[in-house]
Amino acid sequence: MTKKHNFYPGPAVMPPFTVEKTIEALKDYGGTGLSIIELSHRSNEFKDIMAETQALFKELLEIPEGYSVLFLGGGASTQFFAVPYNLMKKKAAYLNTGTWATKAIKEAKFFGEVVVVASSEDKEFSYIPKDYELPDDIDYFHITTNNTIKGTAIHEDYDVDVPLVADMSSDIFSRRMDVSKYGIIYGGNQKNVGPAGAAFVIVKDDILGKVDREIPTMIDYRTHIAKDSMFNTPPVINIFGALQTLKLFKDMGGVPALEKMNIEKAELLYNEIDRNKLFVGNAAKEDRSRMNVTFILEDEYKDLEGEFLELATGKGMVGVKGHRSVGGFRASIYNALPIESVQALVDCMQEFEAQH
Ligand SMILES: *Cc1c(COP(=O)(O)O)cnc(C)c1O
Repeated sequence: MTKKHNFYPGPAVMPPFTVEKTIEALKDYGGTGLSIIELSHRSNEFKDIMAETQALFKELLEIPEGYSVLFLGGGASTQFFAVPYNLMKKKAAYLNTGTWATKAIKEAKFFGEVVVVASSEDKEFSYIPKDYELPDDIDYFHITTNNTIKGTAIHEDYDVDVPLVADMSSDIFSRRMDVSKYGIIYGGNQKNVGPAGAAFVIVKDDILGKVDREIPTMIDYRTHIAKDSMFNTPPVINIFGALQTLKLFKDMGGVPALEKMNIEKAELLYNEIDRNKLFVGNAAKEDRSRMNVTFILEDEYKDLEGEFLELATGKGMVGVKGHRSVGGFRASIYNALPIESVQALVDCMQEFEAQH
């Protein structure tokens, strides 16, 4: 069980419940006399695990009829090309809000014309562009709802006339949302759901089958939908771990309860960043992420960066260092991070202020 204040961006803090249940299952899954990693994925036991994980995903996110939930290998990064493979006839629109969006754009260009409708690159991706129009002949519109590296987020569900595709790797289950507004929602499990190795894909069935190109079997979403996400051997232990987290989320009161906690945690930390004379936030206030909080030292204190990291490390904190492309600090405060850890970081920032 975690004894550190874990601010790593992903793999990231997991609920102790998830870790404990996974350890138990590794030793003996449910009295079968087999470890979870020895059990056939064709066994009834594993079929139940998959079915329950899909059902809880649907229940917690209130996913409407007509959508499928898949757990696939290859991470969110594989979805960067799986999405255009399955959806792009000629042209798609992308919103460029950071490093991951840029990578998604790069992959999409292999399949057709990519219109970057707006980008916040002019200000180092510190905000979410809001003033743009979508061309009317696009096959879908792709957004990244939480920009893990830059610390910005889209806090609403956009209303558009084409399938809306969202990379929600770092904010799934963090807020209430209306899944019916989306054509595809995908992401890696390792930030807010479970162990690394599985990516979730929520796909509206009726947007598929519209492209003329041939799609390799493993990349075609319809393959996985037809086989209940078990066309080939799925990442079993990762799905089992995700199931434990989802069970816990349900017990905690579901997404509304998680959202409330996330708002509290984020406010606690942003209030301190705004109050403390040493620190300043990176992201535009209205676009601040509740999952990844990025901040730097005020110019006159810039040379104290190493010293602050040392203080935080000494207090049992890990992962506070900012991404190499941004510098400064980043605290990833995902669903599973307890508010006590955020309070510990705030205390540390206050202690540091008193020292200087
Ligand atoms: C972490 C992350 C990814 C990459 O996920 P992988 O599973 O490592 O491929 C993609 N998009 C966003 C927004 C992320 O935070």
